[in-house]
Amino acid sequence: MACDNVSEKAKVVPVNNNYSLVPLPQHYTSGQGMFVWDAQTVIVADPTFEKEAVYLQRLIAGSSRFEPAILSAKEAPMASAVYLVKGTVDHVWGKNKEAYSLSVDSTGIRIQGMQGAGIFRGIQSLRQLLPASFHQQKKEGAWGIPAVAIKDAPKFSWRGLLFDCCRHFFDKQTVKHYIDLLAYYKMNTLHWHLTEDQGWRIAIDRYPKLTEIGAWRKGEDGKPYGGFYTKEDIREIVAYANERHINIVPEIELPGHSQAAIAAYPYLSCTGEQLEVGTKWGVFKDVYCAGNDSTFQFLENVLLEVMELFPSEYIHIGGDECPKYRWEHCSKCQKRIKAEGLHDEHELQRYFIKRINQFLQKHNKRLIGWDEILEGDLTDSSVVVQSWRGMGGALKAANQGQCAISSPISHAYFDYQLNAIDLEKVYAFSPIPEGYTGDLKYILGGECNMWTEWVPNDSVLAQRIFPRLLAMSEVLWSAYEQKNYSEFYERVQQQYPSLEAMGIQYGAETVPVRLEHYTSQESINVKMLAGAPNIDLYYTMDGTKPTTTSERYEAPLPLKKSSTLKVQAFKQDKSYGQELEQVYTKHLANGIEPTLSYVYSDYYTGGGNLALTNGVRGSLNFRDGHWQAVQKVPMEITVNLKETQTISKVSTAFFQKQDSWIFLPTKIEFFVSEDGEKYQSIGVIENTISPKKDDSFIEKFMLEIAPIKAQFVRMKAHNITHCPDWHAAAGSDAWLFVDESVVE
Ligand SMILES: [Zn+2]
Repeated sequence: MACDNVSEKAKVVPVNNNYSLVPLPQHYTSGQGMFVWDAQTVIVADPTFEKEAVYLQRLIAGSSRFEPAILSAKEAPMASAVYLVKGTVDHVWGKNKEAYSLSVDSTGIRIQGMQGAGIFRGIQSLRQLLPASFHQQKKEGAWGIPAVAIKDAPKFSWRGLLFDCCRHFFDKQTVKHYIDLLAYYKMNTLHWHLTEDQGWRIAIDRYPKLTEIGAWRKGEDGKPYGGFYTKEDIREIVAYANERHINIVPEIELPGHSQAAIAAYPYLSCTGEQLEVGTKWGVFKDVYCAGNDSTFQFLENVLLEVMELFPSEYIHIGGDECPKYRWEHCSKCQKRIKAEGLHDEHELQRYFIKRINQFLQKHNKRLIGWDEILEGDLTDSSVVVQSWRGMGGALKAANQGQCAISSPISHAYFDYQLNAIDLEKVYAFSPIPEGYTGDLKYILGGECNMWTEWVPNDSVLAQRIFPRLLAMSEVLWSAYEQKNYSEFYERVQQQYPSLEAMGIQYGAETVPVRLEHYTSQESINVKMLAGAPNIDLYYTMDGTKPTTTSERYEAPLPLKKSSTLKVQAFKQDKSYGQELEQVYTKHLANGIEPTLSYVYSDYYTGGGNLALTNGVRGSLNFRDGHWQAVQKVPMEITVNLKETQTISKVSTAFFQKQDSWIFLPTKIEFFVSEDGEKYQSIGVIENTISPKKDDSFIEKFMLEIAPIKAQFVRMKAHNITHCPDWHAAAGSDAWLFVDESVVE
């Protein structure tokens, strides 16, 4: 941004000449020169905007050697002033309470809007015009603010982040930090996920065990893990959010995802059995009993205390993923079904949600639930549906006159890795369901969902949320017709110094490097593709950590021996994203297409038949594209080596992750043949590892023999066929996952 008329004074004033604005304002022009905010500058505010004036005063004072005075509009303005003015911005935005205008020139700053929310959003645009050192709270005597003229308003009124503080607990300071970051990007909703199977995080006076017992689970190290927010913490957080015009919507999950509450008060479940607070991830069968009136009494008492803490018009009650198993086997639940004339347990769930909805309505609150609540034919127009299993929930809700919030798993799940949802994918998101032609007033907006099963600490949290939040903020605020990713990408780059100054170690924008392979009998050829512009790839082949002094990738590598490749991307000499490790095995069958006895799964092809001989080994992520899989049947793999070879070792590797129904084979038989017709057994390996063994692991089955001459090699892996009786999915078809047939 050019600042031609820079005054003499400006040379010592920090000014951000490379600023960018995210989300992009609706109307924006950059001007000439800048305004210098120094000790003489005062804030002149309409009395309506006292709260915003105090916020601005503190913001500036936090990074300056002075504190600006606040004057009322009636008092005569000084020579240097920042005006917070009450007035319409543009008639097209009518009653949009977040509309604002901001003009900066060498004589002053003027922020105009009809409501405090608009003035506050204008202050955030001003904040983004300041240099990164401002956000470090470096105390200066003056700040330069580049000249601009902005007229702006959001396209969608609901711009949120779901923050799961249950799967992992995040303290008060972290919650406040993210509220401030949301404000910086003009988001206006924190959807605070406060209760779960794995932890209850909100103090409720009437039920102290919810936090004494329910807030703590057995951690991986055997010690208690958890934490909760006291009522004082929550009041402090709510006040902090209120200052920033951010609404906090508390989520109290029911009837499912309730094991922590049941662990504290066993009478809430169908069985009344004492349970532990959940320690694993997933969906649990123990839920609130729908036949027991004391369950409803409990929930109403909890909600009364929740409503007292949160001024939000909306209360989120979850309503997702509630298994019906316990209700099917509970006499109280079955009695309720009869007494209420319900058909089945799904209607019992509808009854549950309806009853809670009536209670909330009595207290002038609106219920939000995940899209499962639509299954119960809940057509009350005050209910808001949050669509997560795709956009179908939003479409159905809007078509029947209910408001919808869009946060589909395809674009808005920030717990997903970059290979599923990268910055560009989020930027491609629209909260309006495809094919929807009704009134847009029913599409409130969207949220990004930060579930924290795999987010154990602040550092991973920052990498998951940033920079993807910037894309979400822009698609919900700006939502302009002509999206231009490369232009947005450039603005994101300009945001990084400020984010760093605010203590955010953001993650990568995309998968930093992708590998492509072509394997011949002579070599395994590796091509590396950088995921973003201006990225350099450095690699090692000896297992050491790659740095900028390692080999730099220039052209495809032909590997002629087994190796472990490690690649790290660098952007301006700073490491970018995670290191990638890939193991290669060079052997006699490389590049020869094997014959398979089975049809592999469309989801796990490994890339086709050659997956088993390409030398590219599968990783501990069974979705990495290198694993090939079948359900139920055995795998017989035959390799024709083209000519007679001397063989002394054959091996193969399988994967186990029993909770995903993936088991090692029960045994593997190895055969050789001279002519491809008569096969001779050379050995059998029985699997001795229990199918119950937890976690993800790879097991190599290797047979060493006295050297033998053969042209054909065959391996047969026997499938366990079904999940065993002890398994949660007993009887379901078991998976067999293989990655390579190695012949040496
Ligand atoms: Zn029950």
